[in-house]
Amino acid sequence: MDDSIASLLIIIAISVGVSVVTFWGLGGLVHVAYYKRRRDRAHEWKLQPKRFLKDDLVRHSFKLGGFNIIIGGIVGGTFSWHVVNGGWSTLYFDLARWPDAPGGMVTNLVWLPVSALLCYAMIDAGLYYSHRFMHNKWIFKYIHRWHHRYTAPVIFTTTATHPLEFLVFQFFVMLPVVVVPMHWSVYLVVVLYTYLIGMIDHCGIKVQWPLPFHTGNRFHDDHHVYFHCNYGHHTQLWDRLHGTLRQENRRYGEHVFGGKGAPSKAKAKSSKSDLDSAASAAQ
Ligand SMILES: [Zn+2]
Ligand SMILES: [Zn+2]
Repeated sequence: MDDSIASLLIIIAISVGVSVVTFWGLGGLVHVAYYKRRRDRAHEWKLQPKRFLKDDLVRHSFKLGGFNIIIGGIVGGTFSWHVVNGGWSTLYFDLARWPDAPGGMVTNLVWLPVSALLCYAMIDAGLYYSHRFMHNKWIFKYIHRWHHRYTAPVIFTTTATHPLEFLVFQFFVMLPVVVVPMHWSVYLVVVLYTYLIGMIDHCGIKVQWPLPFHTGNRFHDDHHVYFHCNYGHHTQLWDRLHGTLRQENRRYGEHVFGGKGAPSKAKAKSSKSDLDSAASAAQ
């Protein structure tokens, strides 16, 4: 076999292997530890203690999420092979990428966290806008609804989406590698962190320890409960900016599109009675 094809297959195998072990393996361990062993104590650990996904939907997410993660491993592995073989991207391998930069090595080292933050913000924005786009009435019905079947998400639902949607999200996760100059290890850390956030956001378990630049996992769990709000992945920044954060006094649901909810029933009633009394006063 051609050496280059052999190396491509090896890299893809490693990439798929890591994805599968973390998804089915680690994900499976967490699932058994909570959903099987502590099911009777759900009020202690579960974000939605009274609601459990039906067994057939858990199995469905296990298969669909696994299928997508394998696709992700193949795409990611092929890209890694491209980069390792000197293919173009904005990733670099030498820590002293700009030896003549003012400040020398210090500037090169400072760039590491700065590029990580840029990459992080770019992925966060890409995932927010593409996710919000998925909540368009038509796209939601035919594509994104696949992911919203899981109203009480479990860890396997992280990647259980329509495969087309999975590829769109993967595109935005990979976009920084042709935009932001960054050390390959910086990108790897940001991608693994993105994956970890996805798993934590979907596990359905109250996670007590706060993660940096993340606002807790009830936020996305609520997205599965209320549907058209809380679109952000890493942070709430974009939701705050566009007013799509869930509000206590608004009504949400599968058929309430637009990201900003509808007037709550009580409020709608009171404004109707205000109108009625205003109308009778005017008569
Ligand atoms: Zn959604
Ligand atoms: Zn989700």
